[in-house]
Parts: sequence; structure tokens; C-alpha cells
Amino acid sequence: MTVTTEALQNSRIAILGYGSQGRAHALNLRDSGLDVVVGLRPGGPTSAKATADGFAVATPEEAVKSADLVAVLTPDMVQPALYQDVIAPNLKAGAALLFAHGFNVHFKTIAPREDIDVVLVAPKGPGYLVRTEYEIGRGVPCLYAVYQDTTGKAKDRAMAYAAGLGGARALLIETDFKEETETDLFGEQAVLCGGASELVQKGFETLVEAGYRPEIAYYEVLHELKLIVDLLYQGGITKMLTFVSETAQYGDYVSGPRIVDDATKERMKAVLKDIQDGTFAKKWTEEYKAGLPNYKRMKQADLDHPIEKIGAELRSKMVWLNEA
Ligand code: NAD
Ligand code: MG
Repeated sequence: MTVTTEALQNSRIAILGYGSQGRAHALNLRDSGLDVVVGLRPGGPTSAKATADGFAVATPEEAVKSADLVAVLTPDMVQPALYQDVIAPNLKAGAALLFAHGFNVHFKTIAPREDIDVVLVAPKGPGYLVRTEYEIGRGVPCLYAVYQDTTGKAKDRAMAYAAGLGGARALLIETDFKEETETDLFGEQAVLCGGASELVQKGFETLVEAGYRPEIAYYEVLHELKLIVDLLYQGGITKMLTFVSETAQYGDYVSGPRIVDDATKERMKAVLKDIQDGTFAKKWTEEYKAGLPNYKRMKQADLDHPIEKIGAELRSKMVWLNEA
């Protein structure tokens, strides 16, 4: 069965937020023949960009009032107030509210009105890839889910939106808000952002503390990670093993499990439990409301790590890195 944008023909779609996802969604949906209005705060940082892209820009209130589907593509932590102040008072009964991440609905920091549909469409890629793949006639796989279906059309609307993004040209995977939210948080915390950056920093510190030059340490533990990740991305661990030397493979087999072991896995389970039982969401929401004191301190520590200083110097000599 081909999934089309049929269920959203004759519907007006309001995009709130014009960042990484918002801009890509707005452009792809418009190019798929759908009626898109962008809702932005007047004089906000991105309204000039949306205007330059040829969109009708309205205030968030006006955009929501006129819409049959509202896509909430602002940062997660500003969504509860946006829902409370702008969306809930203005959204038509029977309209659909769409998220690209289930965080606020799943953790109940947004309690959606009962007379609307609530759905999720999450492309499995950053905004620029969602746009560039669409432009060359392909698409980025999308997850979709239904949280609340009051019209009987919620699933069709979510799938039509995903099709409008180009996702149906690749793959649509059905999920639910709980699964999308918890796996997304776990991935970024344990492996992608948290795990990988910590592994790089500790590897760098180990080499530098043992007396090796920081330049060399940078190449070995950070720069070359890209080569490995590209192989994993293209062909999994199988392809990575095919392309590295026998010596690298043997070292992987005997030393990898000494670094990341069953105790690490136990701690991964503890991180997952904090996500599942709402501990992480509660702490993050409190941190945001308190003005991000710990977030700012921890971010500064990452920015001040010695690998950042040597990295900036070395990258300035690798001209190709700045051409992207
Ligand atoms: P972003 O930070 O790139 O863009 C956010 C936009 O919201 C900006 O245009 C900003 O000006 C606007 N904004 C900020 N505060 C606002 C407010 N109070 N009112 C109105 N607009 C406001 O965000 P993003 O990365 O595109 O994320 C948007 C959503 O998409 C999030 O729910 C995120 O979890 C989800 N998501 C992101 C990715 C990704 O790769 N970045 C992938 C999948 C899902
Ligand atoms: Mg870190």
C-alpha cells in the first residue's frame, strides 16, 4: 500500500518553530502540495528565515486558530507553556496536534485537550537530511504514533504527514509515545551523546596523562572515530570488521569488553530505569525551571576540556572540515 498525503489535502498545517526540524518539515510539506503556515513570535530569531523561504508567517496564535493540524517543533522544554498559553485556547475541536518527540505528552507535562487528535511523527535524521533527501526524490525513515484519536482519522493524518515529509519513500515504522520517548532518551544518554563523548574524553586523558602528545591523542580517539562510525552507519559492525586490520580486530575482541563490560550494562539499565520511571524527566524539568544552573556548569566543563583546545587548533589546519 502506498501511503499518500491524501488525509491532509484540504487541511491547513501550522508549523510552530522554525529550527532544525521545523524548516525541513515546512519546506517538504509545501513541496508535497500541502497548505503550510509558519507560526513564529513576531521579531523572533527565525521569522526572517521563514519569510525568505516564501512562507506566510503568522503569530503562533493566528497560525493555531487557522490550522487543522499543528506541528509543535519548538525545543521540548518550551512546549508546555506554548501548549498552555497558545495552543489549548486556540486550537479547533477535531484538529490534530503533532509532535516530533513524545517527551511532554508521555511524561504528562502536556495534558492534551480531549477533543483533538494527538500524534507523533519523528524522522530518524536531523532536519538538513530530511530536506536534502526529499529534494533528491528520496526520504528519511519516520516513526509515527497515535496517542489520542478522537476523529477516527488520527493514524491516517500522522501517516499522511510522514508521507509529506518524504518518509514514505523510505520507511514508516509504527510505534507509541512511550517507546519513542524512552528509546530516544536512552540512546542519546547512554550511547550517542553521553556515552560517546565520555569515552572520547577518558581515552584522551589516558593517553595525555601517560605522556603522549595531545595532537596525536586527538587523532587517535576523536578524529578517527568518524571513520569507524561511517562504517557502522553503512554496514553495521560487519562492515567495520571487514575494513579494519586484523590487529585492530584482535584488539577490539580482547580489549573492548575490558572497557565496556557487564558492569557498564548494569549502569545502562539504571539510566534506563530513571528514564522509565520519570526521574530523568522530573530532574530535567526542574533544572530548566531553575534557570539551568547545573546544565550550564556541566556544559562549560565540556567546553573547557583540553581536547577542545587542541581540537580547534588541529581542525583549523584541515581545510576540508570547514567546507561542509
Ligand atoms: P531547534 O532548537 O532547532 O528549533 C526550535 C525552534 O523553536 C526555533 O525556530 C526557535 O526559534 C523556536 N522557539 C524557541 N522557543 C520558542 C517559543 N517559546 N515559542 C515559539 N517558538 C520558539 O529544535 P529542533 O531540534 O528542530 O527540535 C524540535 C522538535 O523536534 C523537538 O521536539 C525535538 O525533540 C524533535 N526532534 C529533533 C530532531 C533533531 O535531529 N534535531 C530529530 C527528531 C525530533
Ligand atoms: Mg560528557
